Amino acid sequence: IKKVMPIPKAHYGGRHTVTLLPGAGIGPELMNYVKEVFSYAGVPVDFEDVEIDPNANDNVDLDYAITSIRRNGVALKGNIETRSTEAGVLSRNVALRNELDLYVNVLHCVSYPGVNSRHKNIDIVIVRQNTEGEYAMLEHESVKGVVESMKVITSVNSERVARYAFEYAKRNGRKKVTTVHKANIMKLSDGLFLEISRRVAKDYPDITHNNMIIDNTCMQLVSNPHQFDIILTTNLYGAIVSNVVCGLLGGAGLLAGKNFGDHYTIFEPGTRNTGTGIAGKNIANPIAMLNAAVDMLRHLGHKYHASLIQNAINKTINQGVHTRDLGGQATSREVVDTIMKHIKTASD
Ligand code: ADP
Ligand code: MG
Repeated sequence: IKKVMPIPKAHYGGRHTVTLLPGAGIGPELMNYVKEVFSYAGVPVDFEDVEIDPNANDNVDLDYAITSIRRNGVALKGNIETRSTEAGVLSRNVALRNELDLYVNVLHCVSYPGVNSRHKNIDIVIVRQNTEGEYAMLEHESVKGVVESMKVITSVNSERVARYAFEYAKRNGRKKVTTVHKANIMKLSDGLFLEISRRVAKDYPDITHNNMIIDNTCMQLVSNPHQFDIILTTNLYGAIVSNVVCGLLGGAGLLAGKNFGDHYTIFEPGTRNTGTGIAGKNIANPIAMLNAAVDMLRHLGHKYHASLIQNAINKTINQGVHTRDLGGQATSREVVDTIMKHIKTASD
């Protein structure tokens, strides 16, 4: 099966409308920066703002958000707060991905030369199954003091995500895919995921395929990350590995992630944090959300504006205008103003 990228729907006159889910914590302020930069750069995109209330007793707001994304094809998203610890209450974030069948999460982790980090020149793509595995959220207390949690691995979804990883490798001139798993312990579930990735790998003789246990992967990522090219993994291992690699590159404020299905796409900061503790203080790093917005522009085919903003972001980072998470002194506002200054210089 050839993977065809979802086709975003154009509006009259070449403008696109995109669903915007600000979420909680630092989400809303980061979205305001995106809107400001877009309007400053003259980006032909309109936003349809949709609030999701994590405390609502029904799914009206969630259904509305899903309808909006189905209509627009594309969304930019902040993290939605996850309500309480009640069993059976689906995280709104997970519900959105499942309902829209966004079966793959892609995180392209590339070092910024201007950011102090533990390792230089990292370039790793993490391809993560995004709709099942350990996130099935099927938990119950079978008898008092005994809780069971189900992990669901299906051959259909394992094949789709493996196919995506190898097609990505082929399209982007990548050389190696590493399947990350724990099949030595979870013999049936991770065993199936591993077996299917091996079968898919046979269709791509030019791409090296190996596999690694999740615990060793974490150690290898910290000590020798340059051995990795593409990492293919299940949902929870993907979340962990993504955070390890983001941490190696400079933390939660930098990288953006993409959630793909066959029809819809959601763009968001790579580590999916709410950032409640730093909200409203003018200290959050605006880069990850702006990078997500740039990825979205590229996806929509707005190449000129994508490069314009991307170059301005890179200049800002490389000249050392850094928020605290990167060891700097700059406020969120100063970072955004510097980016806009570079946009102005480039388009003068
Ligand atoms: P969660 O959403 O899981 O609660 P947090 O919001 O606690 O995660 O985020 C994890 C860490 O990353 C926190 O220390 C938070 O301050 C930091 N962080 C997340 N996003 C950003 C950002 N954009 N800029 C700076 N720090 C961030
Ligand atoms: Mg979190």
